[in-house]
Amino acid sequence: MSKPSELQTNPADFSEVDVYAVAGNPIAHSKSPTIHRRFAQQTAQAMHYGTLMPELGEFAKGAKAFFAAGGKGMNVTVPFKLDAQALADVLTPRAALAGAVNTLWQEEGLLYGDNTDGAGLVRDLRAQGIVLTNASICILGAGGAARGVLGPLLEQKPQSIVIANRSIDKARDLKTVFQGLADMHGVLLTVCPVDALGSEPSHTAMDLIINATAAGLSNDSPLSDAIAQQILKPTVFAYDMVYGKITHFMQQAINQGCRVSDGLGMLVEQAADAFLLWRGAALAQQLNARAVLDELRQALTTKAP
Ligand code: NDP
Repeated sequence: MSKPSELQTNPADFSEVDVYAVAGNPIAHSKSPTIHRRFAQQTAQAMHYGTLMPELGEFAKGAKAFFAAGGKGMNVTVPFKLDAQALADVLTPRAALAGAVNTLWQEEGLLYGDNTDGAGLVRDLRAQGIVLTNASICILGAGGAARGVLGPLLEQKPQSIVIANRSIDKARDLKTVFQGLADMHGVLLTVCPVDALGSEPSHTAMDLIINATAAGLSNDSPLSDAIAQQILKPTVFAYDMVYGKITHFMQQAINQGCRVSDGLGMLVEQAADAFLLWRGAALAQQLNARAVLDELRQALTTKAP
């Protein structure tokens, strides 16, 4: 079955301007085109940003065709971040550590891959007044999103990070990958099965709990209500990477009197990093990611029933 043409951005159709796209499957829901078009307006860049929906298993084919036709850069989302890492000729150190790529661009015949998710999260947290240095942090989840943000979080030199996951083996694997960086920054890195949270005194003295699981997508929380009541103290900042709704995890935190945030700011901030990688860091002065975030938030509120 053929796909709607707007899901197949062909750089040859926009020969006057530089062309970018976000690739994912599904992709129709993506907010990246809106975000990047606003960044382009703010910084007076003549460019087109569209969408691409390669078939599952066909990311490399679609991405190669896009770049061969003159595409300048690509954002990559679920489920292609690992394929993008495999396709890149050159990885930034943070993309290599993250094991995933969300930003690609072509330079002198080589395809570069970076991962801006972690930097986006750190900037969003900072913008919300969260101090990461010396903080006690819990990351719920050990999938691609957790892996993508661990490096940039460790670089902020928190006091400790506990990775809590349903499948403890995946948490242990992440600890192995990031132990060296944790040691370098003097951070205590531990793991815990998510249903054993609360079993140690340190679990009840967290400053920041980040839900990096996909549970919110299915209106679930990785925390049982009993554990939520134990670890979500009113002093905790509770952050859910899922965006656009009050997730079950956020509601548990609200019930405990915590400050909460969804992941919309992370989405906008990781996009800002990608935009600056492509169009030049000097544009940072003109780019106002928080204004774009406010506009998106407003649009979501207006749409809500
Ligand atoms: P993965 O599929 O790689 O990992 C999913 C993780 O969620 C695993 O740790 C899994 O545990 C856990 N999980 C899933 N369902 C449940 C559940 N019901 N209870 C407990 N744990 C659960 O996904 P990603 O890591 O790539 O993405 C995670 C989330 O982060 C997604 O919702 C995504 O939308 C969001 N995200 C947001 C971004 C943003 O910019 N705001 C950027 C990137 C991701 P187990 O290992 O035991 O299966």
